Amino acid sequence: MSSEASRPPTRPRPRGTLLIVSAPSGTGKTTVVERLVDVLEGVTVSRSYTSRPARAGERDGVDYNFVRRERFEAMVAQGEFLEWADVFGHLYGTRREDTEALVALGQDVVLVIDVQGARQLRRQGFDAVSVFVLPPCYEVLERRLRGRSEDTEDAIRRRLETARREVVEYYDYDYVIVNDDLETCVRALGTIILAERARCTNVRPVAEAVIGTFPGLGDRRTGTG
Ligand code: 5GP
Repeated sequence: MSSEASRPPTRPRPRGTLLIVSAPSGTGKTTVVERLVDVLEGVTVSRSYTSRPARAGERDGVDYNFVRRERFEAMVAQGEFLEWADVFGHLYGTRREDTEALVALGQDVVLVIDVQGARQLRRQGFDAVSVFVLPPCYEVLERRLRGRSEDTEDAIRRRLETARREVVEYYDYDYVIVNDDLETCVRALGTIILAERARCTNVRPVAEAVIGTFPGLGDRRTGTG
């Protein structure tokens, strides 16, 4: 992303955009999203809650909010999650309040969630833009999963089987990106966010402020609310 493209708008937007990113395990979505946050200002990744134990190198409050299963279930009962799902036997969820606070600050918030979570948000008619990231092909996905070497053969098989079910859901998403090159994939995702920022409804407060500087247009009523 060039410095031109990552320049923030002249005035802060009242609300950011929610961007759902789903991809089969091993597609590299976490790397893509982390890189995006480095190169594009105003983008934050939502930190999910999970009942799964932290892997080596993962930190509580950084990679995830790691909580005990009972605490997670209590949060579900209290309606704290925007969406949640059981993935590979562990619970994962996006806390409503956390996301809302970031969007209200004008941040574009990326939710890296599985296809079940995305489906829940779609059913709720949630206002979000969704992107599905595909691996270049099955063999590459398998190689990447085996390369991580932290999983047992059984776990790798399970992830591949889940991937087979997930990839066919790409059609329900607004955008699809094939991750065969990290930088190209990051640029595509960044372009989607920039396009959303330029959407008429999103840019309206800025546009109205500009128009207000024109003689005779300062107290104009647009008649659309
Ligand atoms: P991992 O355990 O490998 O970090 O993540 C496993 C899967 O859970 C990934 O597909 C990831 O996108 C998904 N996931 C992570 N956080 C959430 C969440 O808050 N909600 C849902 N529905 N899925 C999540």
